Amino acid sequence: MTDVVLLPYDRLSLDHGAMASAQPGVTEILFIESGQMLRSRTWHAQRLFLLLSAAAHVEQDLRDKGFTVHLVTADSMRAGVAAFRREHPDARIRCTEPSSAASQRALLECGVELVPDDTFLTSRDEFRAWAGNRRPLIMETFYRWQRTRLGVLMENGAPIGGTWNLDKENRLPPPKGEHPWPTPLHHEPDEIDQRVWQSILDREFPFIGSAPNGTWATTRNGALRQLDHFLDTSLVDFGPYEDAMPRDSWSVNHSLLSPYLNLGLLTAREVVDAVVERFERGGVPLASAEGFIRQVIGWREYINGVYWLFEDDYRNSNVLHADRPLLPLLSDPSRTQMACASSVVGDVLERGWAHHIPRLMILSNLALIAGVRPRDFLDWMKAMFIDAADWVMVPNVIGMGLHADGGAMMTKPYAAGGAYVKRMGRFCSGCTYDPSKRAGESACPLTTLYWDFLDRNRQTLKGNHRMAQQFVGLDRLADLDDVRTRAREVLDGLSGGTI
Ligand SMILES: Cc1cc2nc3c(=O)[nH]c(=O)nc-3n(C[C@H](O)[C@H](O)[C@H](O)COP(=O)(O)OP(=O)(O)OC[C@H]3O[C@@H](n4cnc5c(N)ncnc54)[C@H](O)[C@@H]3O)c2cc1C
Repeated sequence: MTDVVLLPYDRLSLDHGAMASAQPGVTEILFIESGQMLRSRTWHAQRLFLLLSAAAHVEQDLRDKGFTVHLVTADSMRAGVAAFRREHPDARIRCTEPSSAASQRALLECGVELVPDDTFLTSRDEFRAWAGNRRPLIMETFYRWQRTRLGVLMENGAPIGGTWNLDKENRLPPPKGEHPWPTPLHHEPDEIDQRVWQSILDREFPFIGSAPNGTWATTRNGALRQLDHFLDTSLVDFGPYEDAMPRDSWSVNHSLLSPYLNLGLLTAREVVDAVVERFERGGVPLASAEGFIRQVIGWREYINGVYWLFEDDYRNSNVLHADRPLLPLLSDPSRTQMACASSVVGDVLERGWAHHIPRLMILSNLALIAGVRPRDFLDWMKAMFIDAADWVMVPNVIGMGLHADGGAMMTKPYAAGGAYVKRMGRFCSGCTYDPSKRAGESACPLTTLYWDFLDRNRQTLKGNHRMAQQFVGLDRLADLDDVRTRAREVLDGLSGGTI
């Protein structure tokens, strides 16, 4: 029997999962280019390029190391495995657990053996055991369990500094006036990158957004350079500005590591170890180190655990019965005068990335309070973001962003009006709309829709005690009829015209 490792384009680690035991001369490598994956949707150009170019670099590395590499082009992963098996009937095919439930089903049905993905720190079984019968699944509880179990930023069984959560010191708005934000690293394309991009153009794959512009690396070395750059320039102020939305920096103090973590070019363990090492060296405040570690061993592992726990039908949740088609402004920011939305959509088109607050409090919030169909918004997010994968988008969008799961993940919807955006961002000054107004032509659409969302969803949400204050506020509105009138205009503008 020939030992064959199938490498999906987003499972590229050469020393984890199925590759941990692979040896040149013994193990052969199989890449399947699936037409379904490449042509099923209009991808952001940089996402499509990253997937193909990162795989092409890994393929070259494997050949240089002496592996035999097979490339199969097929309509789907399933058809690719079948075609390979016809040529190699004695192959025993192994693969690291893939990034979506649909791929997992397809691989198992084709007789591919799955090997746990140990680029995560928490296996699917460990998360399942932690979750047990708990509901809701509180991230903070999971995070403390992770810190203790993994011994990260711990001292004598207690959190370093005596507290688990330093959010109070973090989450500052952008500073007033000029601020020396870190300069993002530029990743120069190499020959393989140029060849891959040309082949995307030659093969006329459908795409949207700007062509590759050096924002993203396509190799493990590039990912390691990005990690060092983050440690040297951004970690120190990561905490205070993790939620800030300035206009003079698109990356703020964020690490820009998610695509590499998700493709297996970096592992959670090495990123966490590097951050802890910098903290222990001195010069990095605990609030920044803890704030970052929370994202990686907390949020990231929690989201992966939730995805595999809830499995396939979770993606179809729609407890708020939201049925508005996708908003045209998401592909054409010139259709709105809302400075926040047009700026964030512009950033996404430019680089396939925005940090977690624009994703949550601008894009998802707008979709939530406008009542956009969750599956439509999920599909758009998956196509547009550089770090998208089914396991990470489904819980973040369906659970966190849109509350479509009725609170299985988050205890209340992240619905907000313009006041939040004004506090945490620098979009509102100079915007056509006034965040403090909820009715009338100059009212901020987010503020109007926030109240209208509560009004429209009162029956479903009124039993949620964490929403009680918001409904008290709604009941105090003397101009609710005016808000409803303005909301209809805003929704019409968002759906068909401009707003
Ligand atoms: C609606 C929505 C959709 C999202 N979609 C994705 C996605 O498709 N892929 C993705 O990797 N992240 C997603 N996130 C999480 C988060 O926005 C990104 O991980 C982050 O912005 C990536 O930039 P960064 O690497 O600079 O992150 P940093 O702010 O530097 O954070 C460090 C790391 O923490 C991890 N992380 C933090 N929050 C989350 C989270 N909620 N879920 C998973 N990982 C997290 C990421 O790996 C990230 O690289 C989403 C969040 C929201 C609210």
